[in-house]
Amino acid sequence: MSPDTQTLQDGFGRRFPYLRLSVTDLCNFRCTYCLPNGQPKTPDRAFLSRAEIHRLITGFTGLGVTKVRFTGGEPCLRQDLCELISDTRAIPGISELALTTNGYNLLQLAPELYDAGIRALNVSVDSLDPGRFARLTGHDRLDRVLEGIERARQLGFAPIKINVVLLRDFTDAEFEAFLDWARRDDLSIRFIELMQTGDNLAFFREQHVCGSTITERLQSCGFRQRPRTLTGGPAVEFDHPDFRGRMGLIAPYSKDFCTTCNRLRVTARGDLRLCLFGNESHSLRPLLADNSQTRALQEKLHSLLGNKTASHLLHQGDTGLIPHLATLGG
Ligand code: SAM
Ligand code: SF4
Repeated sequence: MSPDTQTLQDGFGRRFPYLRLSVTDLCNFRCTYCLPNGQPKTPDRAFLSRAEIHRLITGFTGLGVTKVRFTGGEPCLRQDLCELISDTRAIPGISELALTTNGYNLLQLAPELYDAGIRALNVSVDSLDPGRFARLTGHDRLDRVLEGIERARQLGFAPIKINVVLLRDFTDAEFEAFLDWARRDDLSIRFIELMQTGDNLAFFREQHVCGSTITERLQSCGFRQRPRTLTGGPAVEFDHPDFRGRMGLIAPYSKDFCTTCNRLRVTARGDLRLCLFGNESHSLRPLLADNSQTRALQEKLHSLLGNKTASHLLHQGDTGLIPHLATLGG
């Protein structure tokens, strides 16, 4: 590879400084849109080890990846999560470490996560109503999750982003409660338009609401759209002079959603997914067995990127390989 091929770029001119790494597909929640029946049977193959993850991320950083998000399943179920994070922090080239969690044990884990190197934190909070939260997640635990977020704020995590999946039974009162939170605290509350996956078609048909309803509400309240950053996620964010925090929307069905794609995904078992809803899966694991294969890994990544398609086909109901987002982390 020549020096000018040392970054990942696809056939559409998109660059990929951002890796989303799933470290487990196990989860302790039963979110209605994701794992309504709890944990499904998963393949016997073990999750990537600490050493394999280190080699994987080293390979990616040599190709211009600067940001890594740890996700799952529920990444905090992994006993060695903080070691994985601090190993990654020490890899030259990494400048942003992020985590997406359901916040189940954030109250206890937040100091360790901070010391390990996480700064950007996404926590899923689908409702501020304790009863609805319990119905959506299978856990009567809203207060504990909110205490964890408050602890994270005090420790200095930033940015803190709250993920809220937008469902048809989301009420005006709920919207107001989230607005109040963003008015008060310096965090970003992002609504995620419900995505169809292999397992949730009936639920999707019943509960999907177009994300533009949120944009219209925000604009009518005086919010203005903010510019995107290079390693930013898929959300469009809005701010308002009277609010300490920001509101946002992730709308995968919107026109041009894929044109700003800047991220690649690897499953907990080491499979590269070029798109969340793609139909291809490429095992990288054979190239993670020892340190001598970094270059071969990088060459493979380069050549696979040529297969990345311009857009997902969700609009046509093609959800690709993904049965539910717990297999890949969103
Ligand atoms: N367990 C962690 C959590 O819930 O934050 C990380 C993994 S979870 C798959 C990542 C994000 O995907 C969460 O914010 C979750 O709400 C969102 N998600 C899961 N399934 C979804 C779906 N079908 N449509 C939209 N968002 C979904
Ligand atoms: Fe678990 Fe996250 Fe899926 Fe909820 S959305 S079931 S917390 S992986």
